[in-house]
Amino acid sequence: MKFGGSSVADAEKIQNVARRIAAAKESGDDVVAVVSARGKTTDGLVALAYEISDRPDPREMDMLLSTGERISCALMAMALQDLGHNAESFTGSQAGILTDGAHTKARIVEIRADRLRESLDSGHIVLVAGFQGMSIDDKNVTTLGRGGSDTTAVALAAALGADVCEIYTDVTGVFTADPRIESGAVKLPRITHEEMLEMAAMGSKVLALRSVEFARNYDVPLHVRSSFQLDEGTWIIKETPDMEQAIVSGIAHKSDEAKITITGVRDQPGIAATIFTALADALINVDTIIQNVGIDGRADLSFTVPLDELSRAIDALEAARDTLEFDQVSSDDQIGKVTLVGAGMKSNPGIAAKMFRVLSERDINIQMIDTSTIRITVVINRRDVERAVRALHDAFDLASEAARRSNV
Ligand code: ASP
Ligand code: MG
Repeated sequence: MKFGGSSVADAEKIQNVARRIAAAKESGDDVVAVVSARGKTTDGLVALAYEISDRPDPREMDMLLSTGERISCALMAMALQDLGHNAESFTGSQAGILTDGAHTKARIVEIRADRLRESLDSGHIVLVAGFQGMSIDDKNVTTLGRGGSDTTAVALAAALGADVCEIYTDVTGVFTADPRIESGAVKLPRITHEEMLEMAAMGSKVLALRSVEFARNYDVPLHVRSSFQLDEGTWIIKETPDMEQAIVSGIAHKSDEAKITITGVRDQPGIAATIFTALADALINVDTIIQNVGIDGRADLSFTVPLDELSRAIDALEAARDTLEFDQVSSDDQIGKVTLVGAGMKSNPGIAAKMFRVLSERDINIQMIDTSTIRITVVINRRDVERAVRALHDAFDLASEAARRSNV
């Protein structure tokens, strides 16, 4: 069971969550609960670091940030003890979560769960501080990147062979689109790991992307549900051959993107490699790339980056100008993306055509297109994103499609 920061924001909420964990234990299950830092604690700690220093040392940043989750899980253990349960809390390193050494964005490399198993076997409810681990080489405290408690929970579920990883949050599940934009969006009864991976990568904020990767790689069933209501939420499960597939399950969007265009790059082997190596070395997350057909030995290249990485990306390109010999770098910071996701797209032609037609009827200009077997993404002007989400939700009738699937 994983509880997000808003679910444990104050004493009353912590006691509510404790009752929910206790009920699961009383029903006969072994329970490991992962908790996030309360409310906006992590934001507060980040701000505090920048009050002290312009360039906080990443190792010390992890020491600082990991405390938020430790507070929550110690308090949760106390609340459970008051309900008459044996409960024990553990930091990430005590829980055996071993990571690489990339401070503030570490990756889990191994889990040694013996201590948790012993605690479970002796009848305890086990509480684990989310979002943190210990670097395997130099034994420093590390954190897993913002939203990383989801990853802690899924990784522990995989390591312990849990039946399910329940993600308790302040929404009731995964929706067909962001309900703040499309009021007709509805909760999806179920979605495949692959679909959720595309949704998370393309802007859905319900689950951290890495946690979904873990769930897919280790086949962990996820159940995303409300901390405040008892209803079933959304099941995220492995695709099976007899599963009924929605052609379009959901729409994800991003409004914080930017586009970079490099004109007059030499049209010859190795140039793209050089450009994207320079960007990778600067740790820029490049997405959607297009290169046009070269004319007279020169081509233009465009790609998107997260808005907050735009200036670093341009600096990296300008620094490599001598080796790259391009004409010009230009950028557009008013970019958004809208994505249709659906496992049934694989076997249904015409989805892209319909998507483009719907957008053209709304006079929305498509700047770039990117697809996978179960996703179509368009890059458009940020001001058109919300209109595009609503138009597509309506045109593909996602609300009735989800309702129909909850009845089967
Ligand atoms: N507390 C961390 C954050 O705010 C991790 C998490 O909530 O999952 O990003
Ligand atoms: Mg979160």
